[in-house]
Amino acid sequence: MTAWRLKCKECGSEWILKVSYDISDMKTIYHYCRKCKKNTFHEILGRLDDQ
Ligand SMILES: [Zn+2]
Repeated sequence: MTAWRLKCKECGSEWILKVSYDISDMKTIYHYCRKCKKNTFHEILGRLDDQ
């Protein structure tokens, strides 16, 4: 699992997404935002070290 720091482009909230695949090639990802309560585009801010 790799943890990525995402930022919602609509509300600006930052949160961590853990996925088993590499999204480093993507600049944005379309994903559900719990704050917006809908799918929004997210900016991928970077990768967190595996823990
Ligand atoms: Zn949002």
